[in-house]
Order: sequence, then structure tokens, then C-alpha cells
Amino acid sequence: MISKCPFLREYKVLRLIEDESRVIFKCDLGKALLKPRDLNEKWACGGCSVPYVLGNSPCRYIKPGKDFLFRGSSYTFFVCELLDIKLESPEEFCKFYCRHYIPKN
Ligand code: SF4
Ligand code: SF4
Repeated sequence: MISKCPFLREYKVLRLIEDESRVIFKCDLGKALLKPRDLNEKWACGGCSVPYVLGNSPCRYIKPGKDFLFRGSSYTFFVCELLDIKLESPEEFCKFYCRHYIPKN
């Protein structure tokens, strides 16, 4: 799931001593650098609903947002560009209750 996130990318490979190296990742959505172990953490990619929402026929008007307030904490939200509202969990509302729902794909 995490590997399918369109906002996750390798940012830099740090060369350490001898043969050792470490990859630093970047969440382009929240503009935060992440260590490899962060990818499984709940506050980072491990608990992020963005890949799930975007991978399940989202409405064409939904746009994700992510704020990393400080290291170890983040806030995920979605904005409906048609109705100009903020939604924390758009999956159910959009598909089952909104008459404007038009799948993106
Ligand atoms: S924190 Fe969420 S949006 Fe950012 S790269 Fe990870 S899974 Fe994607
Ligand atoms: S389904 Fe409705 S609320 Fe959800 S993004 Fe589309 S227009 Fe907005």
C-alpha cells in the first residue's frame, strides 16, 4: 500500500562508512523527509489513508492534504474542490452520500 503512494519518493541516498548507505525518503504531499523506518510508523506512511483513498476510485474533486506538524505527528485531510469542504475520511461520504460523486478513473 505504501509503495503505491504517488507522493512517496526516494529523496537521497546517504553514503555512510564503507559499504553502508541509507535512503532518505520524501513525502511530497506533506513536504517532509522520512527515514526508512518511518514508512511503517503510524504517524507517517504506516497510518496514512492517502494511498487507500486514492487507490479506491476516488471522486475527481477530492484532493489529499497532509501536515507534518512536528516529527512524530501528522494530520491527514481531504479537500473537496467542488463543494469547498474539508473531509477527514471521504471514502464513505463521497461514494454513498454525495450526489456529485464522479469517479476519477
Ligand atoms: S505520508 Fe502518506 S501521503 Fe505521504 S508519502 Fe507516506 S503514504 Fe504518501
Ligand atoms: S463525492 Fe462529493 S464531497 Fe466527495 S469529492 Fe466528490 S463532490 Fe466532493
